[in-house]
Amino acid sequence: MRDALVRVHDGRIAAISNAAAATTPSDGTVVIDGSGLFLAPGLIDSHVHLNSIPGMTPEQQAKHPEIAKAARDQIPRSYLFFGFTTLIDLISAPEAMKRWKSRDIVPDTYFCGGAALMDGYPMNYSPKPQRYPGWPYMLIEPGGQAPDGIDPAMHTPEAVVSRMKADGAICVKTFFERGFGGVRNLPVPRLETIREVVKAAHAAGLLVLMHGSSDEAHRFGLDAGVDIMAHGLWNWSQQQSTTSEITPGIAKILDEEVAQDVGYQPTIQVLYGILDLFDDSFLSDPRLSRVLPQSLIDWYRSTEGQWFRIALSREQTPPATQKPAQPQRVQDDGLRRTMDRGKHAAAYVVARQARILFGTDTPSAPTYANQPGLNEWLEMGRLVDAGETPAQIFKSATLANAQALKLDKDIGTVEVGKRANLLLLRQDPTQTIDAYAAIVKVILNGRVLDPSELVANRTR
Ligand SMILES: [Zn+2]
Repeated sequence: MRDALVRVHDGRIAAISNAAAATTPSDGTVVIDGSGLFLAPGLIDSHVHLNSIPGMTPEQQAKHPEIAKAARDQIPRSYLFFGFTTLIDLISAPEAMKRWKSRDIVPDTYFCGGAALMDGYPMNYSPKPQRYPGWPYMLIEPGGQAPDGIDPAMHTPEAVVSRMKADGAICVKTFFERGFGGVRNLPVPRLETIREVVKAAHAAGLLVLMHGSSDEAHRFGLDAGVDIMAHGLWNWSQQQSTTSEITPGIAKILDEEVAQDVGYQPTIQVLYGILDLFDDSFLSDPRLSRVLPQSLIDWYRSTEGQWFRIALSREQTPPATQKPAQPQRVQDDGLRRTMDRGKHAAAYVVARQARILFGTDTPSAPTYANQPGLNEWLEMGRLVDAGETPAQIFKSATLANAQALKLDKDIGTVEVGKRANLLLLRQDPTQTIDAYAAIVKVILNGRVLDPSELVANRTR
C-alpha cells in the first residue's frame, strides 16, 4: 500500500488508512515520518536457542562472569538489530524463558519443549547425572531403564506433551540423530514413539518439529507425521559418493515433503558456522562488533575461546600426528560436499514451492561463528544463493512462519489488530535482503527502537 498511515495504540495496530486522510494527531502521539520508506512486519526466526552464549560453555561463563553478562545483555538486542521481533526457542522450559524475558528490550519469544530420547541426541552432550534435570521433557520408551529418582510414567509421549502444554510451550521438538563428528551410534527413538508424540501434540494443539539432517531422519519424520523438519537434508547415506547432485533417492524424500506440505527449514548457515571457525579473518569481520560485546570477541581469540575449533581439528587429525594447540584446517572436501548437498536440497524444494520456513538454529553447536542477528542475515544470503527470491524469504520469515506456528492472529503482516511489531526500512524487502542490513527503526509492541539502542558496543 502506498502512502499509508498506520496508527498504533497499546502495542497493537489500531488503524491503517491513506495518509491523505490523516487528521491532526492527539497530544502525546509520537509521529514517525516514513516518507520514501517501507513499513514491513517484524521478522520471525522459527529456530533459535537462547539459553547459550555462542562458543562459551557454562563453565567458561562462570569463569568470566562479566563477559557472559555483557553477552547476555546484548543478544536480545542483536536479534532486533537485524529486524527479528519474534523468536522461537526450540529447546526451552519456563524458568529459562522467564530469565530470557526479564530483560528490558527483548523480542517476543515462544518456546518448544525438547522431547529428546533419554540419553540420545542432544542430551548426550551434557554429563550424567546432571543431564536429567536439564531435560524435563525427555522420552523414556517402554523397556528403557529410567535413571534413579525418575518415574518413567512421567516420560511417556502423552505425559511429556501434556506437561509441555501446561508449561506454556507452543510446540514439541523431537530429534532423529545418530550423531556426527566424534559422536556416533546414539540411540534414536522408535517410530511408534514419535507417532504417539505427534498424536498427543496435535490433540493438544501443539506443533511437532524434528531435528534431522539425514535422508534416514527426513524419511523418519515423514513416516511419523511431524509438521516441520528443523534442518535441511544434507547428510546423504551414500557418504562415500562424491556427488552433490540430487540423487533419485533424495528426490523421492524431498518430493514427499513437498507433497505432504511439511515445513522445511534449510538452515544452510549452520554448516558455515563450522567452516568459518577455521577462517582466521572471521573474528575481524567488522559486522561482528555490531552484534557482540568487544570483550567477547577478544575472548574468542584466546586459546580458551578457541576450544571448539581445537576440539574439531583433533577429531579430524589422526592421533599420532596431533598438535593439540595448533588448530588444523578442517577437511574441507567432506564439509564442502555436505554444504553443497544442503544447498542443492534447498534449491530443489524452493523450485517446487515447498513450505519453506525461515529458521536458522542460531547458535548451532558450540561454535562462535553463528551469532544472533547477523547469522539470520547471513542465512538469507545463503538462501538467495540457493535460488530463493528476496520476496520468498520475506514471506517465509513473516507470514509463512506465523501461519506455521499458528501465531498469524497476532503477527506476520501489517494488519489492524495485530501486534505492532514493525520495521521501517530504506529498501523494499521483497526486492533485496539488504533491506534488513540497515534498518531505520524497529518497533516492538509499539515501542520505537532506534538501531543505536540495539547495536553492540554502544557509546553512551
Ligand atoms: Zn536447533
